Amino acid sequence: MDSDLNNLDSLRITSLDDDEGDEDAIEMDDDDDDGDDEAEDEVAGGGVTLGFVEKPKNPHSLLRQFFPSKAGGVPAWLDPLNLPWGKFRTCGFCGEPLLFLLQIYASLPEKESTFHRILYVFMCPSMSCLLKDQHEQWKRDGENSCRSVKVFRCQLPRSNPFYSFDPPKHNGRNEPLTAGAELCCWCGTWVGDKICSNCRRARYCSEKHQSMHWRSGHKNDCRRLANPSEASVPILGNAACRTLWPEYEIENEDECLSDYEHSEDTSSATSLVPVQNKTDEAFQSLSDKFAADNDKENFASFQQRIAKAPEQVLRYCRDLAAKPLWPLSIGRPTKADIPRCNYCKGPRSYEFQIMPQLLYYFGVRNDPDSLDWGTIVVYTCSGSCDSSVSYKEEFAWVQLYPTCAMP
Ligand SMILES: [Zn+2]
Ligand SMILES: [Zn+2]
Ligand SMILES: [Zn+2]
Ligand SMILES: [Zn+2]
Repeated sequence: MDSDLNNLDSLRITSLDDDEGDEDAIEMDDDDDDGDDEAEDEVAGGGVTLGFVEKPKNPHSLLRQFFPSKAGGVPAWLDPLNLPWGKFRTCGFCGEPLLFLLQIYASLPEKESTFHRILYVFMCPSMSCLLKDQHEQWKRDGENSCRSVKVFRCQLPRSNPFYSFDPPKHNGRNEPLTAGAELCCWCGTWVGDKICSNCRRARYCSEKHQSMHWRSGHKNDCRRLANPSEASVPILGNAACRTLWPEYEIENEDECLSDYEHSEDTSSATSLVPVQNKTDEAFQSLSDKFAADNDKENFASFQQRIAKAPEQVLRYCRDLAAKPLWPLSIGRPTKADIPRCNYCKGPRSYEFQIMPQLLYYFGVRNDPDSLDWGTIVVYTCSGSCDSSVSYKEEFAWVQLYPTCAMP
């Protein structure tokens, strides 16, 4: 057993080939909390891992065999074959294929079946769909509600058909054991189950992506691809579209609480703690969103908590007693608003939340109809149950700013 655990550590640090790798995989914090001090958690925190985006240092590091945590670009599918299908991959309102937001590698090594475990978040980039989604999330019927934000959980035991038992070497030569499903030529995200009837080579997840690809150049390439003498012409690379969000690697760091307490002494509720130049803009744009907000008191404590690490795009804590950090006091779910797991019917618990700073890094503009949120909180099956479905849908709660919520 001991040697297994050692291997486990080495697996977790394989996302990088240098010694900083320790911080690369999100790990579960095994606090001894028995849950008695639930009410204090929100204030005292503890055991929160923060996620920050960085341009990938190494182009290979985001490939699926390295089990990356990443934002934007295309997903690195853990199970590369049995991807979410049909209505799971489209917006419940406009019917368009969803856009990949981020994924985090959140292994739960105490259980064999969750040795590898990745949580994926997708959303429709339309703000009007997100506003409709607001009404649906209160419906307490997880399985049948329409959503524009979807979360999937995929997990694999250490012995599985897709990846080697031992950690991959970070030199790009380490290939996954199997090829993945053929993906849409346009979005590079979803299975390309529709095929161009002319060249019979280009694949798409949807008619929309087919027509977008056609207009942006496949019209010309198609004839060439259809010619048998040019069978060796490489099929256009996946993800030809320019509408994916920019790709980042997610780096992790433990939240530093002592600094946080220090900040409590030195900053007032309304003043910004000075931050490095680089972060000014991100943080300022976040603060601006609250300028017209009368929920100042709650925001002050929210602001204080994130001010020490204003670039954070993610907060992760698998401790069952942990609570998310809400920017607003209104629009929070009660326990009863979180639907039970669709698969085992067990309870779901908070696992991580996505901060609006991510939109800044994605270059989403601050226009009235641009995509915007206060926080996206993800709840997952507390038992991280197994089922024959590879990508198990989990539950996201989106808290919007009051100004967004107006019709
Ligand atoms: Zn939509
Ligand atoms: Zn597509
Ligand atoms: Zn074609
Ligand atoms: Zn479950």
